[in-house]
Amino acid sequence: MRSSDITSQGWVLVVEDEPGLAEVVGRYLVQAGLRYEHLDDGHDVMPRLKQDLPDLVLLDLMLPGRDGLDLCREIRQMYSVPIIMMTARSDEIDRLLGLELGADDYICKPFSPRELVARVKAVLRRTQHLSKPGQTEDLSSQDERLTVGPLMLDSAQFRVEVQGRILDLTPREFQLLKVLMRHPGRVFSRAQLLDLVCHDELDVSDRLIDSHVKNLRKKLASGWPDAELVQAVYGMGYRLQLPA
Ligand code: CA
Repeated sequence: MRSSDITSQGWVLVVEDEPGLAEVVGRYLVQAGLRYEHLDDGHDVMPRLKQDLPDLVLLDLMLPGRDGLDLCREIRQMYSVPIIMMTARSDEIDRLLGLELGADDYICKPFSPRELVARVKAVLRRTQHLSKPGQTEDLSSQDERLTVGPLMLDSAQFRVEVQGRILDLTPREFQLLKVLMRHPGRVFSRAQLLDLVCHDELDVSDRLIDSHVKNLRKKLASGWPDAELVQAVYGMGYRLQLPA
């Protein structure tokens, strides 16, 4: 394990078993003002994440110990930390970004370190405001159209469909679903959801989110009765989870 020691804006966990590549990647991250820590064995990743979470995980696909796909799935089930996969196998890309594994981005080997750092920064920009209290994700975009599994959300028309069936949602439920659909599989705490969806309400408590979720679930179940699309994650919050 090797750490850079520059205090800076964020840190990246680099999981890569080729020492030369890890070193080059680390050097470029430091140049970009990021700290990094390097692990070369898949078995060490979950124990390290338990200590404290990085701002991003750069995860190699083929690793000794545990392979990257398996790790990606487990990390995504437990944490909302963004993941970029590094892979030489372009046939895996759809799965990597799909709902099952839920990586935020990928980069194909061989890559230029400059390109990698650009991807890292882009993902950090996209995700960092979610983890920082007081900053909210912009939910006001008017022309956004999202399709996730059986769900379709159209901001311009204020319209949500589940399997083609139109749902009658309140503005809160609509915003809540929009946040979850933007980041399928990612767990949001009640505090984060309150911040994003109910920031202009005076009487806010965790129960407020629970009641919005409860009503949203009831409406989703009218078009998709087989599985709970919005799942509670015990002790953590909620996420959008589609059946495999
Ligand atoms: Ca490897």
